[in-house]
Amino acid sequence: MKIYTKIEEIERFVEKTLADEAKAVEEVYPFRCTDYYFFLAKSKDFSDAVFRQFFPEKSELSSCGEEDPFGEDESTGIPHLVRRYKNRLLVVTTNLCFVYCRFCMRKRNWKASPFVFDRFDELENYLKAHPEISDVILSGGDPFALPVELLEELLARIRSVESVRIVRIGTRAPVVAPGIFDGKRLSLLEKYAPLWINTHFNHPNEVTRESRDAILSLLKTGVSINNQSVLLKGVNDSFETLKELFFRLASVGVKPYYLFSCDPVKGTQHFKVDEGRGVELTKRLLSEFGPMVTPRFAVDTRYGKRLLV
Ligand code: SF4
Repeated sequence: MKIYTKIEEIERFVEKTLADEAKAVEEVYPFRCTDYYFFLAKSKDFSDAVFRQFFPEKSELSSCGEEDPFGEDESTGIPHLVRRYKNRLLVVTTNLCFVYCRFCMRKRNWKASPFVFDRFDELENYLKAHPEISDVILSGGDPFALPVELLEELLARIRSVESVRIVRIGTRAPVVAPGIFDGKRLSLLEKYAPLWINTHFNHPNEVTRESRDAILSLLKTGVSINNQSVLLKGVNDSFETLKELFFRLASVGVKPYYLFSCDPVKGTQHFKVDEGRGVELTKRLLSEFGPMVTPRFAVDTRYGKRLLV
């Protein structure tokens, strides 16, 4: 798998004006995309729902929104440990991802030097000092972008704390880099099973043969898989698109779990869909197809999630 990290590596596939604008944007919000996900875009312009998710666009330079609207960076006093709920701790395991999704709530971290989480003792001590934390979420960046040994150390330390009952891994790898699930990674998941994977498909075109194979390999290790989508303008803000996405996911064993409204993060507001529209779409899905294929529609706030449907 190749990861493109500069627009100049792919500019020959894109119209010149788009490439020039993207080069200005990548100075502020860097670009990263796997060759797999890049070639999943059927047309290399913003009419394509996959292209819109990875290709920098000039609207990202708007000053609308905040860098860290939910105050994640100060929530525990320990770098990369985020606590917004009494019973949950989120570990920002790295700032590297296979793809930098243009709507990401943590795009403020992309320009920092690459880091991988190595505060194992602080993590373990924090969990032991806070037995009310029953649920730990490994997030990022993408935890599967970490060396396997490091991911293992994290899982081992978390599992050593008896009060932690649920461990989740948030990853877009099944969507953007489905080929990375090799024997070593799958054995690790099997060793620490049962685990939950929260993945993030946004459009039916992302449910490919390769991503289905990755999902099936993951399910065989004993993990359960939930999907958390974001409602994104020009990507998935239509009934037919969401219906097809959620049916494809449910049919391969992935539960559509949340549909989030786009967070008020700087550089992402051109993706924001009116919340009333999200409510309307979700209610219609629920009434026509029931909860098996309909996620909860939610808005994230500084004080936690607000469930709208
Ligand atoms: S994979 Fe997740 S953390 Fe990484 S850029 Fe995409 S949304 Fe953000």
